[in-house]
Order: sequence, then structure tokens, then C-alpha cells
Amino acid sequence: MSAADASLSSDHAVSPLDVEAIRRDFPIFSRTIRGQPLVFLDTAASAQKPRQVIDALLEFYESGYANIHRGIYQLSAEATTRFEGVRDTVQRFLGAADRREIVFVRNATEAINLVARSWGDAHLREGDEILISAMEHHANIVPWQMLCERVGSRLRVAPINERGELEVGAFEALLGERTKIVAITHVSNALGSIVPLHEIIPRAKSHGAMVLVDGAQAVPHAKVDVAALGCDFYAFSGHKLFGPTGSGVLYGRLPILEATPPFLGGGDMIETVSFERTTYAPVPQKFEAGTPDVAGVIGLGAAIDYLETIGLDRIELWESELLEYATEALEAIAGLRIIGTASDKAAVISFVLEGIHPHDIGTVLDQQGVAVRAGHHCAQPLMEVLGVPATVRASFSLYNTKQDVDALVKAIRTALELFA
Ligand code: PMP
Repeated sequence: MSAADASLSSDHAVSPLDVEAIRRDFPIFSRTIRGQPLVFLDTAASAQKPRQVIDALLEFYESGYANIHRGIYQLSAEATTRFEGVRDTVQRFLGAADRREIVFVRNATEAINLVARSWGDAHLREGDEILISAMEHHANIVPWQMLCERVGSRLRVAPINERGELEVGAFEALLGERTKIVAITHVSNALGSIVPLHEIIPRAKSHGAMVLVDGAQAVPHAKVDVAALGCDFYAFSGHKLFGPTGSGVLYGRLPILEATPPFLGGGDMIETVSFERTTYAPVPQKFEAGTPDVAGVIGLGAAIDYLETIGLDRIELWESELLEYATEALEAIAGLRIIGTASDKAAVISFVLEGIHPHDIGTVLDQQGVAVRAGHHCAQPLMEVLGVPATVRASFSLYNTKQDVDALVKAIRTALELFA
């Protein structure tokens, strides 16, 4: 990632990661799959959880549990303090200017739907345009299509080149006075391509467009700084960040959130309610109707603490070493084609094997204890652009080793022999 996309600077020495020690933090690695050690290469779908996160959940349910924001008793006050403390953690983690810019949602999907519904319905009209890229996850396509159906606006799609890189020139050519919002991924879940946000956000801004970044695949891999990026919205899911399912974040610039109508209505998001009229709570509560996933948010806080203790710069360095090692190893396999060879890439490798369906490869790999994803990766339009029905995807994380890569290569060779 560039300096603007991530605060990592390569000019200071970063001490290497003790991967074996990290693996001991993840209880899942003590189990076997079909009698073999688990080789988990599907972190892009959801990350495994460290003991620190599991313990935070356990401790909260065992000795700290209560609903938040409404109780006048000690337990509720404590739970509220912990929940709101995570807002401060996320604010710092994302480099947001104000804690009120952090809205807790269930996942990235809900965050994007919130923006499309609440901000989109209020601001887009017939003929207005929404610009996305060809490598978006369905979560960053479908909510915008639904908005188009409601208000008569138009979805435009910026192309990618054969390496899976955004065509910045073509992207810019699609920007115009009708472009109301650019909704774009930070890192492609299917290809690993890192989008040069530092190049495209200023261009979008110069045309007066809002910018939403889908950061679901970016936050686990490198330090993100929303202020340096200059985006208006940034969305991510807690479960991909080693936190619990059901926890997610929408960052939104304060004046924009303040001027945006609520998403869901109900308890907690109001100031006063009568049968005639309701007034809304200030942000972020205005966007947090109903009982949130209190435990999930507390677990997310523990996950961020865990990652920050390790250091995202060290994680990024280890993952790029793994990516290089795995790319070389996979390229050496005859008949294997890597899909997505962007020059700036996160540790995700999609590939196809000549003559073998990705699902069959996934099944053979699973028999050898290697967990990968096979399919369209919730990016069907991208698969169409690439001319493949599906790919096998191996995604690497802080707990993966070079032995995991070797196990993947061995399992692929077995699949090749089986299907020869
Ligand atoms: N965007 C991207 C880039 C993703 O990879 C994913 C999850 N695969 C999502 C959005 C949606 O995440 P969630 O299902 O947690 O809402």
C-alpha cells in the first residue's frame, strides 16, 4: 500500500513476526482436519480468533454482561463503558478525527447498505451516477443497484486491466458532474489487488463526488488512515479482523453523518418519541437502532488491541513475504494460472488449474486438511470480466507459515495427479 493508503513506512526496521508464538494464540490450530494439521488459507472469508478475543467474549458473558446505554445499575454502566471504549479504539485504529464518526453495524454489508439507503436516498436523483469498479464484492454492487432502482440513478463501472489493476485513466474518464458517489474496494477479495486510493480519491473529490471505501479486505493487512485517505465513508467487518461475527464498522465524516437521515428506526436512536413525531439522537446513536452486538463489539476491541500489540507493519511484512513465496511456488506448477497479478497486492492468490473445476480442487485440498475458497467469491461480474466461472483462492494471514504454502502446493499436485 502507498504511504497515503497505509501509515506503514518501509524506511524503519520492522522486527520479524514470531509466527509460531502467534499460532499458539489461536486455539483452532490445535485441532486436526481429517487426521491432519489444519492448513487454513481462507482468512479472506473470515479470520480465525485468537485466545485474547475468545477470552474477552467469555469474560464479558460470564461476569460483565448487561445491555448498554439504558441501565442505571453498575453492570450496565460497566458494559456501556466497555462498548463505548471500543469506539475510541476504532477511532484511533482508523485515524478518524472524532469518535462520533464511528458507527457500529453488523458487518461491511450493512455499513454499505446504510450509506446507500440513508445517504443515497436523500441525495441521488434520476440521472445521477454511482461509480464502482469491476472488482467489487456483491456487497458493494447490489446496494447501489437497489438505490438505482429506487431513484432512477445509474451505475457506472470502471474497468480493470488483465493484471487485475484498476484502470485509473478510464476511472477518471467516467467521473463527471453527474457522479455523486464513488464506491470502491480498498483491496479486492477475489484478486488481492490494492486499489491506489491516493490517486483516485483526489480525482473523485475534484469532481465533487463522495467516496465510500469498502475496506473489508484491507484493515486486517495494513494500517489504514481514513483522514490521510480523505474518504467520506469507510466500511469493514469485525470477523475478518480476527473479531467476532456480528461486529462491523462504518466510518463516516461527522458533518456528513450529521446531515444524513437515520437508517433503521427504533430504540436507542431517538431523542424523544410521541405518536405525532420523533426526534433523533445525535450521531452515532442515530444510526445504531436496537440492541447492538455488545459482546461482538467488545470482542472487536480485543481483536484490535491484539493486532496493535503485534503491529500491523510486522503483519504486512510477513504477509508480503508469504505472498512472494507462495506466488513463486504456485507459478512453478504446470497448468496453474494465477488470476490477478497486480503490482500492488495483498496476500490473496486466486488461481485456476487447466481442465479441473475449482470446486473439485477445493474438495481434494480439503481432504488433505487444506482449507481454501473455491467459487466466484461473491464477485460474479468480476468472474465474467475475467472470463472464468470461478477460481480457487488461497488467502494468507499472520498465522500462516511457509509450511502451509508447501502443504498447499503438495495438495495441488495430488489434485493434478488425481484428475490427470
Ligand atoms: N467487501 C469485501 C471486499 C469482502 O471481501 C466482503 C466479504 N467477503 C464483504 C465486502 C462483505 O463482508 P460481510 O459479509 O462481512 O458483510
